[in-house]
Amino acid sequence: MELLELLPNSEHIQIRNYELDRVQKQVRIDLCSTQIFAPCPICQHEAVRVHSRYERTLGDLPWADYRVVMQFEVRKFFCDNASCQRRIFSERLHEIAAPWARRTQRLNAQLSEIGLVLGGAAGIRLSQKLHCTVSRNTILRLVMRLPPLQVAAPRIVGIDDFAFRKCVSYGTIIVNLETHKPISLLPRRAAEPVTEWLSQYPGIEIVSRDRSSAYRSGITAGAPSATQVADRFHLMQNLAEVLEQVLRTQTQVLRTVGETESKQVSSETIAVIAQILSDLVPKSDQVSETDSQLQEEQLIGSAHWQKRSTQHQTIWSLFEQGWATAAIAQEVGLGVRTVQRDLRKPQFADPQRRSDYGDSLAVPYRAFITEYLQKHKQTYGLFSVLKRQGYKGSRRTLSRYVHRLREAGSLTSQSHRPRSPAPKRKTESTVPATPLSANRATWLVMCVPKKRTREQKQLIKRLKTHSPVLKTVIELSEAFCKLIRHRQSEQFETWLKEVEVSDLIPFQKFAQGLQQDYEAVKAAMTLPISNGPVEGQINRLKLLKRQMYGRAGIKLLEQRFLLIS
Ligand SMILES: [Zn+2]
Repeated sequence: MELLELLPNSEHIQIRNYELDRVQKQVRIDLCSTQIFAPCPICQHEAVRVHSRYERTLGDLPWADYRVVMQFEVRKFFCDNASCQRRIFSERLHEIAAPWARRTQRLNAQLSEIGLVLGGAAGIRLSQKLHCTVSRNTILRLVMRLPPLQVAAPRIVGIDDFAFRKCVSYGTIIVNLETHKPISLLPRRAAEPVTEWLSQYPGIEIVSRDRSSAYRSGITAGAPSATQVADRFHLMQNLAEVLEQVLRTQTQVLRTVGETESKQVSSETIAVIAQILSDLVPKSDQVSETDSQLQEEQLIGSAHWQKRSTQHQTIWSLFEQGWATAAIAQEVGLGVRTVQRDLRKPQFADPQRRSDYGDSLAVPYRAFITEYLQKHKQTYGLFSVLKRQGYKGSRRTLSRYVHRLREAGSLTSQSHRPRSPAPKRKTESTVPATPLSANRATWLVMCVPKKRTREQKQLIKRLKTHSPVLKTVIELSEAFCKLIRHRQSEQFETWLKEVEVSDLIPFQKFAQGLQQDYEAVKAAMTLPISNGPVEGQINRLKLLKRQMYGRAGIKLLEQRFLLIS
């Protein structure tokens, strides 16, 4: 029977009957074993004497939207081996289901895969859709029963901590830095579990870690021959902390230098705008040279943007004179929001345009439209008149074109808003430039020098000239970044000496810490090892942990995290 081929271990079973229950959406298959003998599970002696029979019900993979239930007739045998302690046993359903199981092996395999990928809550939702409904606990139990990950002996590993609950409890993650796959989760952030884990793999040559002393001592004890590498990212992070600490004592200087920065930028940009404007306004002789209609239309179209760019210039010059935003808005006749937006951008951005910009279906009727509007003073009825003349465009296109003509001044606008005279008052500027905080200055110094903008370079230069302390701090920090980024381990000693002669106590403490961890820090400046893959896996771990709500005990978390990586 062909149906039999769809069942597991089909050579040794026989279908007696099957039944389709359309109401309960269920297929029931009655089965029995075709084997005469059954080996005793204790002594493997082949038993032939049947004691009794009973029915065993097994859930199987669904067919379309029908649940499948296997009704197995199972025999009990006498074990005739006199030395065996078992007298009676049930025959085993090899390759079909485990003893006492209520689902077939292949259904369990599918459910555990669902549980592994989706977890309990999302897993049962999918299993319901797939017509193999089970409880959340069953899915999680199946995941826990999966064989644990088999780890090949790693050579280079990265170690870092992750939070079960931030500031409360932490665990440790270990990643193979050659395959970029996680290999273990440890329940604590301490030396002992790390030592214990590392001692299982004597072949480990390199261990990358952060600067915590717990990991340092744990690795030294567990893998004494392995090279320890301090992670470069963590080294940079440590430097940033120290740098910010020093810069916090210099906030007054930062503020003064930061203010000159914003003033200089705006006066520079006014000049730039003037240049852009002079390029933008069409020269009269250029216009007379071109008689192409499209270019004429484009000029009409650009009238709006010319107006906006002039407004932008006015806004900035009023702002420079110390006008308040609201007063500027009234003076220019724009909304406060628009003025604020313009003040965020010192340069006026010319809009991106399509290559056929200025072309419109209404263009051929320009003369007619102008005449009509001068005669009727309104657009009402224009659309239907144009339609009769063969205009193919939409009402919207027409109204846009009329608006464009009005902006260009060819027509007088009907919807002109009368503007009340603006009260001119001189106030302090209400849009302050972003102050140069210690934090912003820190990231400015830490930034790769090549990636700095011209303004940023000038700002750093000014900071250095403004205060000798800042000069030393910036130079020391930049030098350290260079050591790390370009792996100039030979310069490390010189840098340490420079810190020693400086009067910066936070930097001296930082250098002392580095000296205590000298070998690992030096290795960071020599070896191309990065803890990046570990950070990536921590991100994935966090996602998984949050997806599991409260059910993320270390065992279940580890099972899901390691087996689906
Ligand atoms: Zn036996």
